[in-house]
Amino acid sequence: MPNKEMLLIPGPTPVLDEIYAALASETYAHTDPRVVTATLESLQMARQMFNTDGEVFIVAGSGTLAMEMAIVNTVAAGEKILVLTHGFFGDRFIKLAESFGIAVDSIAPPWGQRVDPKEVAAKLAANTYKAVTVTHVDTSTGVLADLETLVPLVKRYNALFILDGVCATAAVAEDMQHDYGSGAKIDVVLTGSQKAIGVPPGLAIIAFGPQALAARAQLPRIPAYYADINNWLPIMKDPSKYFATPAVNMLYAYRRAMQIVLAEGLEKRYARHLRLGQAIRAALATYGLRPLAEESVAAPTLTCLQYPEGIVDLEFRKFLAGRGVVVAGALASLAGKAFRIGHMGNVTAAELRQAVGLIGEALAAQGRKADIAAAQAKFDANI
Ligand SMILES: *Cc1c(COP(=O)(O)O)cnc(C)c1O
Repeated sequence: MPNKEMLLIPGPTPVLDEIYAALASETYAHTDPRVVTATLESLQMARQMFNTDGEVFIVAGSGTLAMEMAIVNTVAAGEKILVLTHGFFGDRFIKLAESFGIAVDSIAPPWGQRVDPKEVAAKLAANTYKAVTVTHVDTSTGVLADLETLVPLVKRYNALFILDGVCATAAVAEDMQHDYGSGAKIDVVLTGSQKAIGVPPGLAIIAFGPQALAARAQLPRIPAYYADINNWLPIMKDPSKYFATPAVNMLYAYRRAMQIVLAEGLEKRYARHLRLGQAIRAALATYGLRPLAEESVAAPTLTCLQYPEGIVDLEFRKFLAGRGVVVAGALASLAGKAFRIGHMGNVTAAELRQAVGLIGEALAAQGRKADIAAAQAKFDANI
């Protein structure tokens, strides 16, 4: 694989050659012992990353399937959930739940800000919620959810804590046996393969803790078939059994990626992402690019940056794409006014440093003064 575009959108992220090589391995029968082994090893490594004493599921699909699995397996039509949303992907839970006849309340602060815990506490006190959804990092805004505050708050009311980790898993800690206080723990973590794990898109990965598994067991029937974890439970225990054909080559790639994640070490990987986020924001601030989320709530995995006056979004991104760096536009009301840059997965500090330089050139091409040396010095000082 001639390497490559620098894919700095918030997923998919750059894929390492050794992961491509795993993807290109021969496709064996899905029941072949070698595929069974790949599946069991993949599950084991996911279990280790989430540190769960529950069950992990890996199925073909995108992150949205994992969101759907989290909801339909725990909440019945007519029951109510609370959606805490920090942007576009948090909002997705509202439509998703409503399409299954689930009642939804939501708390949605202005984009770039965190939910107010007092408002969350008031909602929890005044209603009965089966579950509360939280997006660990919202990919539209670059806001990181405050688990230290939210997990104990939600668990005080015994609602299930469902965490969307699609833009955080493998870059920010998601430890399902971590006690956030008085035994409060995360019940479900869901994710996709293509963000901080660094695999191409195509796998939904989801972990159910004991209370979430019990919630499924209490539902007699759910409005799903492919997404029903009861159909997958026997397969995850014995992958030589068949329910629906697994994405064999994606499992090879995922296994390789997880070996890379664990070889780096989870704590080291989380610390590296913290530094990458701080360094890229410090560097780009020298150009007058303002993060939507202030530093105290900013995500280690991606940043949404507002353009200074007079910068034309499409031209800016076209300039970068012409030099091999792909960044994403902003969503909803920010479209044209901001762009998003991913700094997660197996992207290196050297690549991001180079991107800092090219972003300076892109701004300069539109007549903005950009001190590239100063920006890169800021990057170096923070990395
Ligand atoms: C990307 C993303 C999703 C959606 O995942 P798909 O793989 O596109 O279905 C959901 N939640 C978050 C936080 C995301 O970043």
